[in-house]
Amino acid sequence: MIKPALRRGWRDRQTLQYGMAPAHAVLLGPVTDHTAALMDLMDGTRNMDQLQEEARRLGLGPHIPQQLTERLATAGLLDDATADREASAAISDRLRPDLASLSVVHHAPGSAVQRLATRRSARIQVRGAGRVGTTVAATLAAAGVGQVDVIDGGDVEPWDTAPGGLPPHSVGSRRDAAARTAVGQWRDGRNGNRARVGLVLITPRDGADAYAPDPRTAEPFMETGTPHLYGGVAEATGIVGPLVLPGITPCADCLMRGRTEREPSWPLLVGQWRTANRRRTGTPACDIALATTTAGILASYALSYIDGDGGCTSGYRLRLALPHLLPSTEQFTAHDECPCGAASVHAARTGSETAEPHATMTG
Ligand SMILES: [Zn+2]
Repeated sequence: MIKPALRRGWRDRQTLQYGMAPAHAVLLGPVTDHTAALMDLMDGTRNMDQLQEEARRLGLGPHIPQQLTERLATAGLLDDATADREASAAISDRLRPDLASLSVVHHAPGSAVQRLATRRSARIQVRGAGRVGTTVAATLAAAGVGQVDVIDGGDVEPWDTAPGGLPPHSVGSRRDAAARTAVGQWRDGRNGNRARVGLVLITPRDGADAYAPDPRTAEPFMETGTPHLYGGVAEATGIVGPLVLPGITPCADCLMRGRTEREPSWPLLVGQWRTANRRRTGTPACDIALATTTAGILASYALSYIDGDGGCTSGYRLRLALPHLLPSTEQFTAHDECPCGAASVHAARTGSETAEPHATMTG
């Protein structure tokens, strides 16, 4: 069937456009009125024999339905009607827009259903249950990720709450339990798994630890080869990335070593920030709209990784500064002396992921 998620419109008498926005819109032409009428019938309710019968009725040759099917598949406009029906029956109605969106992004017939199945079998751990962390976790669960674990300690403070994360009535309850409840209400009833954690999101409540990641925090993930993605709000700047693929892309230690080479006082400065964090009595700055935006981008990048669309923010990170969410990117390189070994892989590359069109919001 032709993907129902894409709107159809005539650009002129012979050219059809499927989809609206340029990123995913496709032009088809020349298309006759009879061919367009046949395409109208390709809604998943007819098999090839029935389409050939319809083609005959429209005065089209018997080979047209097969040719048209191949042409539409090449253009990324065709989906697997049977797989889509089965998937739609197997998921909650809440996930149907996400399935439709996956069908827009992924061209091959049936690939949206496959992506949703991959999400369902995935397990993501979110470390930090503040405004950003819990919102990310709930969003991932709502997007169909089978298992989302949130790790944090202590009790919910009023400033941990967010419209997409911990609700106001959770103040005073244990952070991990409250986050579990917040995530659980978005989980598809059929989901839940005990798979190996495939991605860790490091979303510290105080964004200073996302801005200047501590290599010691990442040690367990480096040792187990677990991909991890940093994110948070530092004062009035949202941080998304980097995504660390251990041994392949720059890690927290690479970042620290590289920055220290350029700025020898960097470790001293970071040390002062961390000490100040521990002694802090006031609340850290965190604009709720910025936290929600940062969480949304983090969740989208995490989903892209799980969906197999490549490692967004591997080797760089996105910064969004208030006011106006002014975006900028910060590039990282693997450090030659870092034990992670990413430098050898990095050196062998002819280009980085940052050259891919999906890898930056500023392009
Ligand atoms: Zn490294």
